[in-house]
Amino acid sequence: QEYNEKESLYIALNYAKDFFHENLQSGEGQSIGLSYLKERGFDASTIEKFELGYSLDGWDHLLNKAKGAGFEESNLLKAGLILERENKPGNYYDRFRGRVMFPIHNLSGKAIAFGARIMTQDKKQPKYINSPETVIYHKSDVLYGIYQAKQAIRQKDNCYLVEGYTDVISMHLAGVENVVASSGTSLTESQIKLIKRFTDQVTVLYDGDDAGINASLRGIDMLLEGGLNVKAVVFPPNEDPDSFARKSGKEGFKKFLEKEEKDFIHFKIDLFAKGAADDPIKRAEAIRQVVLSISKVPDPIIRSVYAKESARLLAMEEDILLTELNRQLLKNQ
Ligand code: ATP
Ligand code: MN
Ligand code: MN
Ligand code: MN
Repeated sequence: QEYNEKESLYIALNYAKDFFHENLQSGEGQSIGLSYLKERGFDASTIEKFELGYSLDGWDHLLNKAKGAGFEESNLLKAGLILERENKPGNYYDRFRGRVMFPIHNLSGKAIAFGARIMTQDKKQPKYINSPETVIYHKSDVLYGIYQAKQAIRQKDNCYLVEGYTDVISMHLAGVENVVASSGTSLTESQIKLIKRFTDQVTVLYDGDDAGINASLRGIDMLLEGGLNVKAVVFPPNEDPDSFARKSGKEGFKKFLEKEEKDFIHFKIDLFAKGAADDPIKRAEAIRQVVLSISKVPDPIIRSVYAKESARLLAMEEDILLTELNRQLLKNQ
């Protein structure tokens, strides 16, 4: 019973994925959708790799096409592809209309949901809309790009973590394929477990705005708690990996990553003691922030290695740092 329901959702979602993708080849999909993707620098092979598409601007393009192919409305509804009209029960319309479509794949490459971007600067409409939770799509368990990245993550033994769909895609274009996106939500335990199936090293590459920095800070602590090695790269203000990769080019981007990558200790020291190495209040805050992160590390041996390392970097007595660490450990319990 349940198996059949899930199976029927996969079939509907993958049918929709193919329809959206084919839309890029002619008419409105080509002139609006494909042009938009090309403008962003996404070439044909990238569009294929990520199976990008376009949802036509109308109320029932997918609905009619899918019904014609034998899909039932109840199935399309459960797949999150259509919505029921509020004032007309039993009457449905397409959820995704006039947007470029980013299929979200599971580990075996099947589409399980969509992210959909509007192409205009329409302030009344959200920039992205996403599929709802369904029996096959649990947002908090999924990482965008994992299917396209898993081999590279294993091979490089490192995973870059970014915020958005387009960051993942542009990094592939820049030759960096070991990258997944949390898709704008805060990282979850099950997403961390998913990464751990492939590597124990994560580099956080969040946007260079306040929201991005705050999300990095939360993400770093969650990853440390999950027992991972964590690094981070800070992007210039108002840049994200996508915009920056396009600006700096393939080689420039890779060099930037190499140069700017810091372990979480340096990341926090630089962030909290910024430009005030001799300001005791700021230094104390930086120390507390570093210790707070170290206290999340589950392995006591790794914890003590980090403590030693930070004491050295912060040019302070290890004992004092350990006292603060123990205080924080008690507080965490
Ligand atoms: P783009 O480059 O196309 O503008 P982005 O990925 O840089 O997109 P951000 O605003 O940085 O967009 O958001 C990061 C991610 O957060 C998006 O890729 C998307 O997954 C998610 N997101 C952003 N805005 C929304 C929204 N209004 N509703 C739902 N998810 C969103
Ligand atoms: Mn194709
Ligand atoms: Mn962004
Ligand atoms: Mn962006």
